[in-house]
Amino acid sequence: LVRFEKVVKRFGGNTVLDQLDFTVDAGKHVTLIGPSGSGKTTILRLLMTLTQPDEGRILVDGQPLDKEVRKKIGMVFQQFNLFPNMRVLRNVTEAPVRVLGLSKDEATERAKELLEMVGLGDKLDAYPTQLSGGQQQRVAIARALAMRPKVLLLDEVTSALDPELVAGVLDVLRDIARTTDITMLCVTHEMNFARDISDRVLMFDSGRVIEAGPPEQIFNDPQQQRTREFLSAVL
Ligand code: ATP
Repeated sequence: LVRFEKVVKRFGGNTVLDQLDFTVDAGKHVTLIGPSGSGKTTILRLLMTLTQPDEGRILVDGQPLDKEVRKKIGMVFQQFNLFPNMRVLRNVTEAPVRVLGLSKDEATERAKELLEMVGLGDKLDAYPTQLSGGQQQRVAIARALAMRPKVLLLDEVTSALDPELVAGVLDVLRDIARTTDITMLCVTHEMNFARDISDRVLMFDSGRVIEAGPPEQIFNDPQQQRTREFLSAVL
């Protein structure tokens, strides 16, 4: 469903992605791990068309990534990025109404279902600042799903949260992984979460995938010295 073909991304003289090739099959959950600066966030930003590749191409659902194709992709950010001046319900209905052209009623019905699913059915009228970080992140997840994306990108979605709020957010994501056919591409430092939800783990170093495989293999029996070093530092 998502295919990177020889993608090169440079910032100034710094080659951040170096002829990167990888694919994510439909419905699969793939986690990107690797040291800071290895290019993981850049991959998600390319998929969101927030930045463009210097070489190579990116295909989503067999089509070159453009504004239309981009609508198949949703993203949840580290810093939630909710609309601070809108109540929770409106945060979730806004894009479906404006971008997808749903009626207000349709969007509201769907938003309520999603907010119920993430455990916030009683917070529809709250403003983001009245919620905990974990609750805000769950609104952000509902907001992303409201656009019915085929692909959901998760960029270190728990790293801005107090430790006691992490589990609730990860539980919601595990549920989504289990109960929907959405394709997920996650960047995370939560190795237990990666182990739980991933079909495949891609280990990055210096803008390339240096090792890929099912989580049992990557975490229990890594083949590359670099992967072993990384895992022993973070586990
Ligand atoms: P982390 O785990 O710390 O988030 P990462 O693997 O996600 O790291 P990226 O954020 O993709 O890494 O960054 C890869 C490299 O690209 C870094 O060296 C970073 O400094 C550089 N970089 C990223 N964005 C820009 C930018 N807009 N301008 C210049 N350099 C950038």
